[in-house]
Amino acid sequence: MSNLTFGIIKPDAVRAGNHGKIVDRILAAGFKIRGMKLIHQSLKQAEGFYAVHSERPFFGELTEFMSSGPCVVLALEKENAVPAWRELMGATNPAEAAEGTLRKDFASSIGENAVHGSDSEENAAIEIAYFFSKLELV
Ligand code: ADP
Ligand code: MG
Repeated sequence: MSNLTFGIIKPDAVRAGNHGKIVDRILAAGFKIRGMKLIHQSLKQAEGFYAVHSERPFFGELTEFMSSGPCVVLALEKENAVPAWRELMGATNPAEAAEGTLRKDFASSIGENAVHGSDSEENAAIEIAYFFSKLELV
């Protein structure tokens, strides 16, 4: 799985109609899309996905936001996919995100920050398996 990572185009970006532009940027950056679908998570699904953050003060806000509308889940392939995708995303807080990153261009706040990316190969595998069956990965 070392060349794979998991990404989400979050509900704020889909609501704003930016998901097509973000997919374009992903492809232009040299990622292969191995899985992609539009889903609308329930609160329970979002709580399960972000379970590692359950003790953080923003957990309620985060899971409500992530279940507030459709999002696009992605399995992405590239050499060193995990750091490559985090680099394209930019810093968690868009105020600190570098020029040319997705969060610089599409995020509005530290909470509603347009995209998610796995933080390790191990978590990428877990996160892909949370949303995709084998049949949905090409
Ligand atoms: P990242 O998404 O860059 O890996 P984290 O794993 O630290 O960042 O946090 C997960 C998500 O939780 C962030 O992308 C963001 O949506 C939300 N979040 C993080 N910090 C805050 C905060 N201080 N206030 C509100 N939401 C936050
Ligand atoms: Mg994270």
